[in-house]
This record gives sequence, structure tokens and C-alpha cells, in this order.
Amino acid sequence: MTGLIVRGSNNIFYVRPLDSAEESDLEILAGKELECRIKGKVLKGVQGYYNPLAPGDKVQIEVDPLHPGKALITELVERKNAFTRFNQKGMAPQLLAANVDMVLCVTTPASPPFRPRFLDRVLVQAERAQIPAVIIVNKWDLHEGDYDVDERLEDYRRIGYRLLLISALTGEGMDDLAALLSRRVSVMVGQSGVGKSSLINKLAPHAELKVGDLCEKYERGSHTTTMSRLIQLQGSADGGCIIDTPGVRRLMPDGIGPDDLALYFREFAPLVGQCTYGLSCSHRIEPGCKIMEAVAAGVIHEDRYESYLRLTDELKELY
Ligand code: GDP
Ligand code: ZN
Repeated sequence: MTGLIVRGSNNIFYVRPLDSAEESDLEILAGKELECRIKGKVLKGVQGYYNPLAPGDKVQIEVDPLHPGKALITELVERKNAFTRFNQKGMAPQLLAANVDMVLCVTTPASPPFRPRFLDRVLVQAERAQIPAVIIVNKWDLHEGDYDVDERLEDYRRIGYRLLLISALTGEGMDDLAALLSRRVSVMVGQSGVGKSSLINKLAPHAELKVGDLCEKYERGSHTTTMSRLIQLQGSADGGCIIDTPGVRRLMPDGIGPDDLALYFREFAPLVGQCTYGLSCSHRIEPGCKIMEAVAAGVIHEDRYESYLRLTDELKELY
């Protein structure tokens, strides 16, 4: 039988049986989530990760007639893609979501302050995984014409990202968000306190995610969500589903070396290899560097360039 991972911790995963299950089985299971463990020690093809499975993964399961509600995971159905980050504590890639159609990068104009550096990391990771990304600016009710924020947002639009200006509080833009999510599997990524739980509660009231007190979550930095979780939106099949990820403070990209980072800054990518020193250009000091020329000409925003420089430094330390 095939099942969908909806959430999981170290070795226990909650799996929703999918339609391919025998009808008689489905009746017994009737929308139930099965508590599953991996059969044997390791799952074929998933070694090397901090966690072997993530919400959105499809697996083969064996139901256990002696233990109703429990099953064993025997196999991973090949992933279409994976949204990961590099877990620095575990020194391994961490799977945040699998088989997703879209990455929602949630940010705010204020409270917590707009953080383009964090946004750039999420965008880079989405480019690496070849998953389309949309920038969701929540708490738009708090926006007061901050020139710097407006100018940065406009630049993201210019380089080709779709932006949605919304408010979970007033409901502004929520219809557009619901339309965007329909029929798709989306993963929501953002720092703690940007309103991910509030947005999901609006879209899927049955989810009842705990909305944190801003002081508690953002200023003191304790997190109410610790693991990703898949939530079906509004029951209907075309409602889509959303994978909520833990609100991380920092996101270290996974699968990207300092030398190939420029490929994942989408407005840098066409210039890669065009510099006088070709692919060995560090884009920092070399004469005839097309990236530095583009920064000087305003084709690359200097703040994106700054993000790029900082991130290459961090990646160099990592590798
Ligand atoms: P999460 O950490 O990303 O899940 O954020 P939460 O959903 O827990 O929200 C953090 C805080 O921001 C809570 O106090 C929410 O009430 C508040 N909040 C969420 N969305 C909005 C919004 O659109 N506007 C305003 N003003 N506050 C919001
Ligand atoms: Zn260069």
C-alpha cells in the first residue's frame, strides 16, 4: 500500500494511506493516520540525510494486522524533488519537505523586520532544488511605506519573483493566496514570528496550529514548531496542501558550494562564465568581472551582491 508522510520525528512517522490502497483496507483505515516505523534499519536510497523522510514523501507500507493503527515503511517512492537545508549541528542535509510544487518564502515588512538576507537563502535553495518560489509578504497591515522595504520588494519583482502582499490579520490578499495554493503541494518557509501558523489557521481552520506570542517566539527565539508537517487545505481534493516547516533562525543552503552559488542567484546566473577569468572568477576583485559590472550598472542590486558575498564566505567555512 502507498502512503503519504504527513509528519514525523526521529524514527516514528505518521502516514496517510493513499487511494491506491485496497478498498477494504481503506474502510478500516478511514482517513486515519498510521503510526509507522522503518522496516529494518535503513531505507534504501536515503542514506546521508539528517532525517530519512519528510512530509510529502510517498512510501510503501505494510499494515500490521496485530497492531491496528501501526505499519512498517518498506520503501521510499522516488522523490520528484526535495526542499532541504544544511543542518550545521548534525553536519548533514536536513529534509524539510518532499515532492513540492512551490516554495512559499514568508516574510514581513515589520515585526519582525524585513530580512532580505534570509529571503535570499530560501530563494537560493529553491533555485537549487528547481522548485518555483513565491515571496509572501505577510503583516502587510503593518506596512507604512518604508522606502527601503518597497525598493527591495520591487527588485525581487524585477528579477522575476512573484510577490503576494497579504495579511492574516485583516484577510487582505488571502483569496489570492488560497488560489495560488489550490491543487498544489506547497512548502512554507520563514523565520519564526512571520505568521506562518496564523496563515495556515486561516486557510485550514481544522489545523489549529498554535499561534505564538511574538515576544516568546521571535525575541526570545523559542520555537513552537519543531518539525515539518503536512496540512490538507479545506478537505476538497483541489484545496491543495501545505507543508509547514519549523521557523528557523538561520538557513544554511544545502548542496551548494561557494563556487557555484552565483548560479542560484537568478539574475547572476546568465553572467556566470562570462567574466574575463571565466569560471575561476571570484566576482570580488578581478578586472573584467561581469557580475561586478552588473552591480555597478544597477542590473544586480547591491544588496543581493552583499548577500552573495556573505553567503560565499559562510559556504567556504563549511566546505
Ligand atoms: P509563525 O512563528 O511564523 O508561525 O508566526 P505566528 O503565526 O505564530 O504569528 C506570530 C505573531 O504575529 C502572532 O502574535 C500573530 O498574531 C501575529 N500575526 C500573524 N499574522 C499577522 C498579520 O497579518 N498582521 C499582524 N499585524 N500580525 C500578525
Ligand atoms: Zn566575475
